Amino acid sequence: MAAGLDALLVTPGPDLRYLTGYDAVALERLTCLVVRAVGDPVVVVPQLEVAAALASPIGELGLGMLAWGETDDPYALTAATLPGVNRVAVDDRMWAVKALAFRHALPDAEQEAAGTVLRELRMRKDAAELEALRVAAAAIDRVHARMGEWLRAGRTEREVAKDIVDAILAEGHVRADFAIVASGPNGASPHHEVSDRVIAAGDPVVVDIGGTTAQGYCSDSTRTYAVGEPPEDFLAYYGALQQAQEAACAAAGPGMPCEEVDRASREVLEEAGWGDLFIHRTGHGIGLETHEDPYIVAGNRQLLEPGMAFSVEPGVYVAGRHGARIEDIVVCTTDGAERLNIQPRDLAVLGG
Ligand code: ZN
Ligand code: ZN
Ligand code: ZN
Repeated sequence: MAAGLDALLVTPGPDLRYLTGYDAVALERLTCLVVRAVGDPVVVVPQLEVAAALASPIGELGLGMLAWGETDDPYALTAATLPGVNRVAVDDRMWAVKALAFRHALPDAEQEAAGTVLRELRMRKDAAELEALRVAAAAIDRVHARMGEWLRAGRTEREVAKDIVDAILAEGHVRADFAIVASGPNGASPHHEVSDRVIAAGDPVVVDIGGTTAQGYCSDSTRTYAVGEPPEDFLAYYGALQQAQEAACAAAGPGMPCEEVDRASREVLEEAGWGDLFIHRTGHGIGLETHEDPYIVAGNRQLLEPGMAFSVEPGVYVAGRHGARIEDIVVCTTDGAERLNIQPRDLAVLGG
């Protein structure tokens, strides 16, 4: 096994889904895939979830299954399959109580985070994963295309977000993960969600939305709209933001360090005099999770490779006034980069 590990312990979450296709819900009872350096992998499953596990892709993989009853100790049962282990990796999302229970059940084993191993696999998407991300991106593009139906003066951010959430589901996601509607001064807070603020004519509105498709892959795209004619001090930076987003997408390609993609967008905004107002990294990887490796941030010297998928989402945030962000999901190809989100990026002025 990689990196001298004796075992990998993976509880329900994106790593389990990645490795087995099993989309189990994380609950207090232990479900755990045990990948061993010596011996075949086994899945520890609560008795009452055996039928669900067998009905999942795990059933087709033919993995050994260890069912445990309500009065059994599933940690001791798992430990018994791992005699003499020294180093075990636990998935990054394992609940602390479970990681601590494993520490107790395997007192001689050193624990580490499985992410250092699994990120190397999950970061590089295969053709089927890229197709799943394309499907997700097209679905969220269709929601942005319908924004004029909902976004107008006199409605609250919360009312607009509710319509967006309905549309995220109607347009091909099984879950709406977030719907940020940040109008006027709220647009200056990058992770503002929604409020009861009534959208006014002349407001710029940052709309950052995403969901998860049936295959488990995520969408995430931002467009900034103007409800009626936007103010001059907003138009003063929107064009530079658009150029910054273009520059980062153009810089992305095989062999390019992640931090250079961040630099490309930051440089444009710095030269235009808005650099201080771009207060976050340029982007994040995306796949079975909305935020995963690789991160497009200063200091990340990871080189882009074909199959890596990530967001390019520079923003400008003017406290007390408004903000703007433009976000597309981009995939590194063999000779450049492919944008999965293709909704127009020119400022869309919707009916005030
Ligand atoms: Zn974010
Ligand atoms: Zn986003
Ligand atoms: Zn994002």
